[in-house]
Amino acid sequence: MMLGLLLARAGIAVVVLEKHADFLRDFRGDTIHPSTLEVMYELGIVDDFLRRPHQEVRQLKGQIGNQTIAVADFTHLPTHCKFLGLMPQWDFLDFIVEQARRYPSFNLKMQAEVTGLLDQRRLMELFDDGSTIVLDSIHHWIPEVRELCHGLQEELGGTGRATAFITPPHEFGLELHADAYEIFVLQIAGSKEWSLYPRLDPIPREGLNLDRADFADVAPDVVVLREGDLLYVPWGTPHSVKPIGTLSAHVSIAVNFPTWADILSQAVEYLLADEGLNGAAHLRPGTEPALAAELKARLDDLAGQISAIDAQEIAAQFVEYATYPERRQANTTLTCH
Ligand SMILES: Cc1cc2nc3c(=O)[nH]c(=O)nc-3n(C[C@H](O)[C@H](O)[C@H](O)COP(=O)(O)OP(=O)(O)OC[C@H]3O[C@@H](n4cnc5c(N)ncnc54)[C@H](O)[C@@H]3O)c2cc1C
Repeated sequence: MMLGLLLARAGIAVVVLEKHADFLRDFRGDTIHPSTLEVMYELGIVDDFLRRPHQEVRQLKGQIGNQTIAVADFTHLPTHCKFLGLMPQWDFLDFIVEQARRYPSFNLKMQAEVTGLLDQRRLMELFDDGSTIVLDSIHHWIPEVRELCHGLQEELGGTGRATAFITPPHEFGLELHADAYEIFVLQIAGSKEWSLYPRLDPIPREGLNLDRADFADVAPDVVVLREGDLLYVPWGTPHSVKPIGTLSAHVSIAVNFPTWADILSQAVEYLLADEGLNGAAHLRPGTEPALAAELKARLDDLAGQISAIDAQEIAAQFVEYATYPERRQANTTLTCH
């Protein structure tokens, strides 16, 4: 975390990944040594630090029999803080995070577990063999892309998520499919041919892989995207993408909307989280009438509770989710397809 602060302070974009939701972990010390305090002094953050609850130890003493002897005396040290500071490590880390967040180039992702390291040589081998490099959730770490996603969110009222695709000249292309979200494709380098078919009706809620044979009678709109072009692909539009012999890179911004089913089920889930509902329902032959009677009573009770739900609170949660997606702890990943 300290390195993250130092890099961000030097203007270097840094992403710190922490697998846990907080720093309240196993005990790993609580002593802030005078040398550590001196580093904080040099960084100009020691005054802020000393305003936090902490203890200061100027001398360490030991007792042998009846005799008390001074073991260490910090008051002579050539540092600005001539004492040991004592603060739980999790409070200290929260402090460092707060300092680092003052720099826009600092980015901390909590609950983001590192599951492996990138093998650069293998990555380039796969790329040379025609695989596409996919950089997931780049809006988390590229401020300009984050701003673009926010702008789209504000205009459209959904959550925006950006993925970058870097494809080698002889890649295999993307087979015919339809996505369950709006897509804005920004061609960054090279070019690519997109074939777009009429939008499916009804619009699918899930992404679908499609059989080209089912569209044999339909002439697609064919669009060649070149560097700087922007393409809007409406939700549920079947499309395939073909390379045209150049290295190509594009950013795809997917804008996702909750359905009314999503919002209603979240509201009902609130009620179903009630611990009183965790009792087992025993299902045996012959118990069906009793089960149905109890189910009816519970449904009537649930209906009463549903009408008392605080709709304002659920609505506020969805709006916050749509407006500030970076608060969600999405992992940032790099994969090779
Ligand atoms: C018992 C004990 C007492 C100590 N007392 C002191 C002391 O009094 N004063 C002092 O200055 N130093 C003390 N130390 C040393 C100090 O704790 C370490 O020097 C310091 O914590 C090292 O910092 P770090 O960021 O390198 O690693 P850590 O503080 O260990 O941080 C590593 C972080 O990475 C996270 N992580 C692990 N795996 C993954 C993954 N796969 N993906 C994402 N995140 C992951 C962990 O959850 C953890 O938060 C003590 C250490 C111990 C063990």
